[in-house]
Amino acid sequence: MILVKDAIITGKKQDLLVEGNIIKKIGNISISEVSKDETEVIDGKNCVLIPGLINTHTHVPMSLFRGVADDIPLMEWLSGHIWPMESKLNEKIVYAGTLLGTIEMIKSGTTAFNDMYFFLDSIIKAVDETGIRSTIAYGMIDLFDEEKREKELKTAKKSLEMIKNLNNSRITGALGPHAPYTCSKEILESTNALAREYNVPIHIHMNETLDEINQVVEKTGMRPFEYLNSFGFFDNVNTICAHCVHLSDSEIQIMKEKNIFAAHNPVSNLKLASGVSPVLKLLENNVPVTLGTDGCGSNNNMNLFEEIKAAALIHKGVNLNPVAVTAKDAFDFGTKNGAKALNINSGEIKEGKLADFVLINMKKPYLTPKENIESHLVYSFNGVVDKVVIDGKLVLNDGKMVNIDEEKVYELSEEAYFELTN
Ligand SMILES: [Zn+2]
Repeated sequence: MILVKDAIITGKKQDLLVEGNIIKKIGNISISEVSKDETEVIDGKNCVLIPGLINTHTHVPMSLFRGVADDIPLMEWLSGHIWPMESKLNEKIVYAGTLLGTIEMIKSGTTAFNDMYFFLDSIIKAVDETGIRSTIAYGMIDLFDEEKREKELKTAKKSLEMIKNLNNSRITGALGPHAPYTCSKEILESTNALAREYNVPIHIHMNETLDEINQVVEKTGMRPFEYLNSFGFFDNVNTICAHCVHLSDSEIQIMKEKNIFAAHNPVSNLKLASGVSPVLKLLENNVPVTLGTDGCGSNNNMNLFEEIKAAALIHKGVNLNPVAVTAKDAFDFGTKNGAKALNINSGEIKEGKLADFVLINMKKPYLTPKENIESHLVYSFNGVVDKVVIDGKLVLNDGKMVNIDEEKVYELSEEAYFELTN
């Protein structure tokens, strides 16, 4: 059990008791009420306790690609730098990159993420060791080739079986067809069938750039959401669509009707000059918006507090509307909405919710005066958190990882980067 004493929880100073992996009680809880031998007491004085953030679009091992080839066009970035490096990936490199990325997320208050990548064994190993919660999909790309398609589907199915057999409630599977311009209709149809069979969500890139949308329109005569909807891709599954930068009104209607979640990646979309997602229109149509960082190659970090701030600012600017996307909206994108998208019983601090939460010491210049803490967390905070509890376990204590030798991870990461670039 964990007992947090004297923290600011939902606006007032109180205590919080964790039993197993669940928030058992919030209120005034005296130490004499709990068994001293079995309870870890955390001093929450001067701290605000918030739900852990949920990052709904990542390629976590790309943390090793941080700072590689900034400020160039997307296709040049991909074909000249990212794809050649990705061709050198191996299990060891992906393991190092995942450790690095998950530590970065935990240290900036993220307790769960939704990933799409390769070498899932290595990702799972690192996720298990760091203690974070994740939904993991093997990224499928068939480039309209039948042989490749069979291979990709086989790997995806194998990954789902492997994750199921882990029997680890922190690690769940998903299906990750890369995008409509890199995946055939057949693989997308099989994705829907597999998602139903395994009862897992689908994680896909949608409408990130004008160029890729034009490719789909030229090929099919339909915009990407219309095309996928024409063969039932969104039927009876939970779909998380990353980016959603350029959307027609009819595509927003499809998102609304099919209960599709948008994973908004404002920083990545700005850096790659893809555009700005019409988030206000999504909200007007009750399409749930969540937040993702995308991979570190296009961000260049995994600090979701930066996405929260960007989301709260950018839509005011592009809509010339100071009440567009309020601080509360943006914070909900990064917590409550993310939890719904990944079907995790978290994202809020309430009795009965999973014990996935974060403590932030408020004795910092940018968090003072403490009365306006909700505003500070969105507009003023840099994301450096103090303690993190995930699934009822303390994984970050006073800014340090509890179960991980961080020095070793930096060493492994430098070695992996050398291997990728030489
Ligand atoms: Zn992505």
